[in-house]
Amino acid sequence: MKLINRNGRATLFSKRGEIDVAESSNGRFPAELDSLYFSWSEFAEWAKAFDAPNREVDLVDRRDLGAVSPAPSQVLAVGLNYVDHAAESGFQVPEYPIVFTKFASSIVGPFSELTLTSGTVDWEVELVAIVGVGGRNISAEDAWQHIAGLAIGQDYSDRDAQFRGQPAQFSLGKSFAGFGPIGPVLVSPEEFLAQSDPVIECLIDGERVQSATVSDMVFPIPDLVEKLSAIVELRPGDVIFTGTPPGVGFGQTPPRYLRQGQVVTSRISGLGVMEQRCV
Ligand code: ZN
Repeated sequence: MKLINRNGRATLFSKRGEIDVAESSNGRFPAELDSLYFSWSEFAEWAKAFDAPNREVDLVDRRDLGAVSPAPSQVLAVGLNYVDHAAESGFQVPEYPIVFTKFASSIVGPFSELTLTSGTVDWEVELVAIVGVGGRNISAEDAWQHIAGLAIGQDYSDRDAQFRGQPAQFSLGKSFAGFGPIGPVLVSPEEFLAQSDPVIECLIDGERVQSATVSDMVFPIPDLVEKLSAIVELRPGDVIFTGTPPGVGFGQTPPRYLRQGQVVTSRISGLGVMEQRCV
C-alpha cells in the first residue's frame, strides 16, 4: 500500500492512478488521515483491492502534499540509534533507547520551506514509522502488525537550543515550526521490508552528507516498539522517528550548519524523496 496526504485528503496510489479514499469507499472511511488511522485494520483490508505500483511514486503537484500523519497525538524520537552517529556526537552507544519528543506542532508536509531559527540548524534524515493499531506491551514479534507504514522524516535540530542548559534537553530545540517534515508517501511494512537493504541518505545542494543502510540501526523498529510500548501507550497515527545515521553537521570539524538558500534532499529506498529549502 502507498498512501499520501493530497490537500488534506487520504489518497491511495494504485496502478490505476490516485484513489480518493473517502469518495471511493462511499464515506466508509474518512478523508482526513488523522481520523483514518483509528480504523486502520479495516482500512488496510479494504485497500488491498487497490494494487500499489511497484515503482517509487512519481509525485506531481508536490505543493499539495501534507504530512502522512498530520496531527499525531505523540511523536517519539530516538537518539543515537546508529553506532557511528553516537561516536560523532561524542556519546556511547546506548544500552536502552534514548527517547525525546518533537512536539506535534513541528510536523509539516514533505516539501516545505525551513525557516532557519539560528546559525546552528542541522539536518538529521530518519526513517519514520507511523502507528496504525495502538496498544501497550506490544512484543517485538507482533510489532509490525501495529505499524501502518514507513516514511521519510527530517529531525531538524537547532543545536544552540538543543544543548542549552545542563543537563541539556533535546525536545525544544527540535520543535520549532517546520522542524518535523514527514512524507511524501506512507509505504506499508510488507512493501518496505521486501527490499533487500534500504539506503537512507541526506544531500545538501546535491552533496551527499549522510548515507547508511537501515540495517545499521542499533535498535530496529520491532525492538523500539516493544521497549516504547512497555511504558507509553502507542496510539493510532503516532509518529516514531527512529534516529539518524552519521554525517550530521555538528559532528564535523569544524561544525557545519544550514544556510539560507540551501536545499536539503532526503531519500530512502522505496520511500521516495523529500525536500526543504532553507529561508
Ligand atoms: Zn534525530
